[in-house]
Amino acid sequence: MCNKKPKHKWLKVISGSARELAYQINERFDLDWEDETSIKHRIFWPVVCFLHDSVALPIDGLYSTINGTYWNFDADRPFTIREYLTLFLWHRPARAMKEFVIYTIFRRERIDEHLGCPSWPDCDEAPMGCIVERGLENVEWYGARD
Ligand SMILES: [Zn+2]
Repeated sequence: MCNKKPKHKWLKVISGSARELAYQINERFDLDWEDETSIKHRIFWPVVCFLHDSVALPIDGLYSTINGTYWNFDADRPFTIREYLTLFLWHRPARAMKEFVIYTIFRRERIDEHLGCPSWPDCDEAPMGCIVERGLENVEWYGARD
C-alpha cells in the first residue's frame, strides 16, 4: 500500500468541502458560543453535525476502504467495499433511528454510551473498537491489552 497511488481522490475533495462548510457555518453563526436553546443553535447545529458526521466521515471511510487502508480487525484484512457499505447504510441509520426514538420522542436523558469503548472518543473513526457498534463480545480491545 506504500507505493500505490491513492485512487478516487475526488472523494477526499468532497469530504474536505463538507468539513470546510461545517466549519464555516459554525464560525459564521458563532455556534460554539451560542446558547444551545437558541433558535440559531437549534437550526444550524444539526446541519453542522450532519455535514461532519453523515457526509464527511462516511466519505472518508469509503475513500480509505477503496484504498485498502480501512482495517477490519476481526478479519485481519482491510474492509471490503461491501462490508463498509453495510456498516454505513444499514447499521448506522438503524442506530440513528433508535437514538431518535429514545432521546427525541421519549426524551430520555442522554448519557455517553461510548464512555467504555476502547475507541473512545473516536468511535466514529474506529468503529471496530466501539462497544455500541460491535457489541461487548466482538469489540476490539486495542490499546487495552498489556
Ligand atoms: Zn463507541
